[in-house]
Amino acid sequence: MRLAGQSVVIIGAGIAGLALARGLALRGARVRVLEQAPAIREVGAGIQIAPNGARVLRALGLGDDLARIAVQARAVELLNGQTGARVVRMDLTRRAQDGDYHFIHRADLIEMLRAGALAAGAVLQLDTQVASVDLAGDQPRLRMASGADVVAPLLIGADGLHSVLRSTLNGASAPFFTGQVAWRATIAGDGGPAEVQVHMGAGRHLVTYPLRGGALRNIVAVEERSAWAAESWSQRAEHTRFKDAFASFAAPARAWVDQATDAGLWGLFRHEIAENWGKSLPHGAAVLLGDAAHPTLPFLAQGASMGLEDSAVLINLLDSLPMYAALTRYRSLRAPRTARIIAAANANARNYHLSGPARILAHTGLRSLSALAPNLMLRRFDWLYGYDATEAV
Ligand SMILES: Cc1cc2nc3c(=O)[nH]c(=O)nc-3n(C[C@H](O)[C@H](O)[C@H](O)COP(=O)(O)OP(=O)(O)OC[C@H]3O[C@@H](n4cnc5c(N)ncnc54)[C@H](O)[C@@H]3O)c2cc1C
Repeated sequence: MRLAGQSVVIIGAGIAGLALARGLALRGARVRVLEQAPAIREVGAGIQIAPNGARVLRALGLGDDLARIAVQARAVELLNGQTGARVVRMDLTRRAQDGDYHFIHRADLIEMLRAGALAAGAVLQLDTQVASVDLAGDQPRLRMASGADVVAPLLIGADGLHSVLRSTLNGASAPFFTGQVAWRATIAGDGGPAEVQVHMGAGRHLVTYPLRGGALRNIVAVEERSAWAAESWSQRAEHTRFKDAFASFAAPARAWVDQATDAGLWGLFRHEIAENWGKSLPHGAAVLLGDAAHPTLPFLAQGASMGLEDSAVLINLLDSLPMYAALTRYRSLRAPRTARIIAAANANARNYHLSGPARILAHTGLRSLSALAPNLMLRRFDWLYGYDATEAV
């Protein structure tokens, strides 16, 4: 199939949907993005874009904009939350490919992608909710919440955790609570280094890094909980509960939590990776992208980068293979990689939250490895950060 002149409808103007919209439009496709929200908005918090995600943004011609809005990360540090002592430091500047690791305010990233999609010729329709998708005919057919029907020769579901297309392809199922909640906030910058720090404690951890040239500091603090009792996915946090959860942490982390008076609280939900990623129809196709296919815990900071990778792989395959072959190849390339990333994020959830002797043992092992073989620590992430989705065919 050739993308030039192809009509594409994307559900969802999140990071994955907008990146795909720009990429497809640059190849000459006629792209329409349907977004239920009345405005393109993101949570007021930061996001880490790792080298594998940044590679895709640069291939979309957004490298200069990325450099303008991002703080270039120099290191990743794991610390003992209670004492503040360093457990591991990975110097990202030691290798060129890992030097390309970014901290970005979500609002800046989404605005860069929105402007990039529009500049490439994609059309964005806000306040447009897709109520259901019908894949029984020759082409995908959308029923809008307004009652209107839309036919989409090529339909992409980049509609996140509650994806309508995912349920059409895989049957309806509710996302499950992962047993973790996250407070998110930005506070005033304090001149700290361009590093991501993970302060680890029993059943909880706190991640922090600078944003917007150091003007802000991002805080994501996670705690294990047995249940999430709210009807919604997020709620206003009680600041005292937040402070209590991190009261045993060392001074810098406690001080950041004290300042985060307007933190929001999220229950972290996810699905298993979708079984069916797409369907080829007689004159069309439908396919999933990003969190709609593979939501993850955020403990490897890879959710958005996986969506960016998806978009690069899908564009190359659609532009070079017949539809059925492109969809089959897409799933066979993306499902194992996203499964590996999600498993690594789940492992971080366990490792960050260790307690008692297991924690002492793990921290001692990591400290020795980091001191004796710092390059080995970095090379453990080659499979993740070294991957070039723009070359995958
Ligand atoms: C606490 C936390 C920290 C994180 N940190 C990182 C990080 O540092 N690095 C990283 O890479 N990832 C991180 N992630 C994950 C990352 O945020 C997500 O993986 C990513 O934003 C998903 O993008 P998406 O475009 O696939 O989906 P979404 O962002 O969910 O976008 C889906 C869009 O579809 C729209 N939509 C949904 N249904 C419909 C419908 N029926 N009709 C029309 N529109 C619809 C929605 O309104 C939304 O705009 C983090 C996540 C959390 C919770």
